[in-house]
Amino acid sequence: IIQIKGLNKWFGRLHVLREVNLEVAAGEKLVIVGPSGSGKSTLIRCINRLEEFQQGEVVVDGIPLSSAKNLEAVRREVGMVFQQFNLFPHMTVLHNVTLAPCKVRGWSLEKAERKAQELLERVGIADQARKYPAQLSGGQQQRVAIARALAMEPKIMLFDEPTSALDPEMVGEVLDVMRGLAESGMTMLVVTHEMGFARDVADRVIVMDQGQILEQASPEVIFQNPAHERTRVFLQRVL
Ligand code: ATP
Ligand code: MG
Repeated sequence: IIQIKGLNKWFGRLHVLREVNLEVAAGEKLVIVGPSGSGKSTLIRCINRLEEFQQGEVVVDGIPLSSAKNLEAVRREVGMVFQQFNLFPHMTVLHNVTLAPCKVRGWSLEKAERKAQELLERVGIADQARKYPAQLSGGQQQRVAIARALAMEPKIMLFDEPTSALDPEMVGEVLDVMRGLAESGMTMLVVTHEMGFARDVADRVIVMDQGQILEQASPEVIFQNPAHERTRVFLQRVL
C-alpha cells in the first residue's frame, strides 16, 4: 500500500534521508526505531507529504506524491497522530473530531457527529465529547487525536512517538487503543520507544540510523539477534 523508492531528503545541506527504500503491505504494522536525529519523523512525514523531498518516489495507495495536486487525495488516505496532540484548543472534543470530515469529505454535521460518537466510544471517551481539550488528561487528549484521525476513514495511520509526552500512567490506555486498531487490520507505521508494543504488535521493526534503514526484521530477530552492532547498542539504551 506504500512504495518508497530511492528517497533522499536534505534540510539545507544536511542530508537527512539517504536512499531510503521501503514497501509496506496493506494491513502491515511497522515499528520504526532509531537514535534521535536518525530521520524517523522525517521519513513518516514524507508519507503524507508534511515534508517535501528532493529525490525519489513515494506512492501511497497507488497515488504518486510527486504531483502537488495529489496531495489532498493522499492526506485523505493517511491519518497522523503526533507526540503533542495538536488538538484545536478552542473547540470541543466532538468538534475536533467532526471538523475535517465535514470540511474535506463534505459530510453533514449529523453524519459526522454520529461517526464521531462511535469513534469516541471506540477510544473509550464517549462521555467527554462536550469538553474542551484542556479539561482532559494527556491520555484522553491523545485518544481524541486518534479518533480525529480515524474520522477521515484513513487506510493508513502514522504515529510519531504518540506516548512520549504522556505521564507514565497514561501510556497504557493509548497503547491499548493502538493495539485495538492494529487488530482491526489497519496499516500502521509507528515511531515509538515502547518496545513491549513493538514486540506484541509489529510485523516488522525498521531500525533507522543516520538517515538510512540500517536493518529491518521481525521483532524477535531485531531484539534477540540483530545484524548490526549499532542496533544492539541502540537497543541496550532503550530496553
Ligand atoms: P527524534 O527521535 O529526536 O524525534 P528523528 O529520528 O525523528 O529524531 P528527525 O526529526 O527526522 O529525527 O530529524 C532528522 C534530522 O533532520 C535531524 O538532524 C534534525 O535536526 C533535522 N531536522 C528535522 N527537522 C528539521 C527542520 N525543519 N529543519 C532543519 N533540520 C531539521
Ligand atoms: Mg522524531
